[in-house]
Amino acid sequence: MPEGDSLHCAARRLQVLVGERVEVETPHPRAAVKGLAARLDGRRLERVEAVGKNLLLHFEGGLVLRSHLRMHGRWRVERRGATRAGQPWLVLRGAESEAVLWNGSVLELLGSRGAPRLGPDILGEPADFETMLARLRATPQEREIGDALLDQRLVAGIGNLWRGEALWEARISPWRPLGELDDGELLGVLDLSHRLMRAALERPRPPRRVYRRSGRACPRCGGLVRSAPQGEHARTAYWCPNCQVGGTPPPS
Ligand SMILES: [Zn+2]
Repeated sequence: MPEGDSLHCAARRLQVLVGERVEVETPHPRAAVKGLAARLDGRRLERVEAVGKNLLLHFEGGLVLRSHLRMHGRWRVERRGATRAGQPWLVLRGAESEAVLWNGSVLELLGSRGAPRLGPDILGEPADFETMLARLRATPQEREIGDALLDQRLVAGIGNLWRGEALWEARISPWRPLGELDDGELLGVLDLSHRLMRAALERPRPPRRVYRRSGRACPRCGGLVRSAPQGEHARTAYWCPNCQVGGTPPPS
């Protein structure tokens, strides 16, 4: 059984990833349904600490992942790309190392002060689109839609992959300010995000249209997909400038 000491050991080993933007995967189906990978993938890991029997992983944007190992949970740190058998709960992959969480445990996302501060869950059934819309309207309207969709206080659960894919499906440029979009357009993007992400729970590897396809042809119009950092945390936005026009993207 993991005691306090082994948690402090785990926290120490995980320090190698602090400061890195990590790729996040949840191979185990019971972990995958939590939508954590979508929320955390591509964020910088800012701090790791053991508090009581919890390991708290602080990510940029005020998101904190709480991991409680219970009886059999175990963190390992390996070199990136190490081969392994089985399905770990969570993989945090940095440039050279990856941290792997094995076996059932408590995994939940908290706000920065330990209390959930998140907007309505995009995966909710039913999803509370009206509250999401209200929060999108309560934030400064010069904010770009691509940036706002990743703000977990407005809508919880849309990660970098699905903001790109949903905006592409909706033919809306991530660079358009919220104030330029009408309620129908915002609700349309939220509904597409919800439907694409629900479908991905059942079919884990759907084809990607723009995400990580920079420089390749848009499957709709043949234009070249672009990418550029966006928002306070400079997370990479992917879009087709030919069929998602508007806003002020950075010069290519
Ligand atoms: Zn296109």
